[in-house]
Amino acid sequence: MTEVTRRSTHVLLVEADPPDLEALREAFADARGGPMDLECVEELADAMARLSRGGVDAVLLNPALPDSEGIGGFDRLQAFAPDVPVVILSDSDDEELAVRAVQGGAQDYLLRSEATPELLIRAIRYGIERHRLLSALRSLSLIDDLTGLYNRRGFADLGEQYVKLARRSTRGVALVFLDIDRFKTINDTLGHHVGDRALLRVADLLKDTFRRSDIIARMGGDEFAVLALEASGEDARMLVDRLRAQIGEFNESSREPYRLSVSIGLARCEGDGRVRLEDLLEQADAAMYEEKRSKRRTVAQG
Ligand code: GH3
Ligand code: MG
Repeated sequence: MTEVTRRSTHVLLVEADPPDLEALREAFADARGGPMDLECVEELADAMARLSRGGVDAVLLNPALPDSEGIGGFDRLQAFAPDVPVVILSDSDDEELAVRAVQGGAQDYLLRSEATPELLIRAIRYGIERHRLLSALRSLSLIDDLTGLYNRRGFADLGEQYVKLARRSTRGVALVFLDIDRFKTINDTLGHHVGDRALLRVADLLKDTFRRSDIIARMGGDEFAVLALEASGEDARMLVDRLRAQIGEFNESSREPYRLSVSIGLARCEGDGRVRLEDLLEQADAAMYEEKRSKRRTVAQG
């Protein structure tokens, strides 16, 4: 019989003020689903040095460190070791920080006062699996490198399944298609890197507007598409209105050197309809283009 030797999961705890490490180590060693071992470092610089040697499966990070405070440390760690999932273990019950961390790719944000060893073990285990899945998707190139949204192929692959699901649940499905207006001007006058930043901002605005379960994609260049299940017939229109409002707010409050203008097209299909994703995409694209043309006419007349 072949003996399968599975090495234990190696977790790096980055924590300036470690709790009862021995008790945690014992719980980790007995973890359900296989043993975990725990190594602890107290500064971000030490964490980077340790990660560069390899062999770490997951990081547990308390962002309050002697050499780093707040989300910046997480961002640096993530950029340094994008293949290693990070679970944040914080003393601060700051909802905004938590949302930013998860949007930035953290696998979870747990409060130290509430985190039992069992909860930590589960968060690490799931975090590793989710991270693996995301990497697999990336390697199949269903994901857009710049924004982390789905790319055109991801949209097509997942969108087909989504439309089938909608048909079974008899809920309507809506496709929103968006193209930035005069995006070339941003690139040409402010530089390509500012253009990239504008694309990221649009991706953020879409993520803020739509549900996590909706399929949000960058279809290429400055084009984006979202596939959303509708709870009622008016849902999609409300979401588009909310998106426009969010863009308006961005333009009023942002310190970016450009203002965003977008053209949006919407195509919908009732729950009982049989629809093909390509047809919805074509209709939404045409509606988007109609808005763009009418803006150009207005500009030309004005
Ligand atoms: P319109 O108002 O008609 O939409 O025109 P536009 O200037 O927005 O230009 P269009 O949508 O036709 O073209 C999109 C441009 O986006 C073309 C290309 O130079 C630029 N682009 C494509 N991919 C990227 C990218 O990854 N980063 C940046 N910064 N620019 C990109
Ligand atoms: Mg454009």
